[in-house]
Amino acid sequence: MQADLIQEARRQAEICNACRYCEGYCSVFPALHRERAFSDGDITQLANLCHNCRGCYYACQYTEPHEFALNLPKALAEVRQDSWKVFAWPRRFAGLFDRSGVAIAFGLALGFAIVFALMLALRPESGQGFYAYMSHGVMVAIFAPAFLFPLLALTIALRSYWRAIGGGDWSFSDVWQACKSAGRMTNLDGGHGDGCNFEDEDRFSQARRHFHQATLYGFLLCLGSTSSGTVLHYGLGLEAPYGLISLPKLLGVPGGILLCIGTAGLAWLKLKADRNLGAPDAWGGEMAFVLLLFAVSATGLLVYAATGTAIVAALLPIHLGAVLAFFLLTPYSKMAHGFFRMAALTKEAVLQRAQ
Ligand code: SF4
Ligand code: SF4
Repeated sequence: MQADLIQEARRQAEICNACRYCEGYCSVFPALHRERAFSDGDITQLANLCHNCRGCYYACQYTEPHEFALNLPKALAEVRQDSWKVFAWPRRFAGLFDRSGVAIAFGLALGFAIVFALMLALRPESGQGFYAYMSHGVMVAIFAPAFLFPLLALTIALRSYWRAIGGGDWSFSDVWQACKSAGRMTNLDGGHGDGCNFEDEDRFSQARRHFHQATLYGFLLCLGSTSSGTVLHYGLGLEAPYGLISLPKLLGVPGGILLCIGTAGLAWLKLKADRNLGAPDAWGGEMAFVLLLFAVSATGLLVYAATGTAIVAALLPIHLGAVLAFFLLTPYSKMAHGFFRMAALTKEAVLQRAQ
């Protein structure tokens, strides 16, 4: 971890620990007030608990021009961003994305789309729906490793994180508490339920919370759609294409719509918000991730809407290219934040249970 980032966050955390004005704002402050001194692991844990709602910045009487120059959202965002790079596996890929995130995300998606378009020349002679363009076997051979590799990389990264913060033993009830907090996005309600200050300075707004929820639930519905398709195919021998009244479509279509709305909203809020209250160097990479996720959902919906027409041949490679780039970049992009945040919320649940 970069010592100067940790040291600056520690300095600010110590001031907050004496002040305690922001006590009820989010999970960071109860966790902070529990400590008398902050190890590097404590600071890393606080950074991953912070949701960058910015409520504490706009409430603070010690921001610049005060000599304390408090900017806790920024200090924690920079440590958080650094922690994802330090724990990333393989380490050499870390940091790649936030240096030139937009170029990497869209270059990779475009490159894969071209390869998929060329592969259409090898399309099977039979098959229905998407499988008329690419056989089921080829799809599985490409996407199964592309799905499993990020899971492996994230598991290794989270194990390193858990050790660094002194995670200790956890129970399923701790994970359940973390899931409830993430599902309700309680850390984005400002502690009073009126929302956060992300994009509107000292005006409270629920926009970021709701767009985040749309993105999270949209993503989970799409995951449920793909999983149910796998069960239907391998478990029940029911092969795609599936009709509108089928589990893959009943989950996938609303999931895709929610993902589009959520990611478009998050990108819009990001453009409005003050970049100096986050990690400015990571802004481009974060925006690239949001736009890539939007591209995945929008092209998925377009492919579905165009089913049965010749346009599918042009749209399908673009959609598959975006999905493949998204999977492979997941451990090194903003997508990793969801996994680290779940680990941080689980650790917080462990500590609360022990109190
Ligand atoms: S952010 Fe400012 S007001 Fe809030 S606890 Fe820290 S020092 Fe106090
Ligand atoms: S930015 Fe929001 S989530 Fe982060 S410490 Fe401040 S109040 Fe808590």
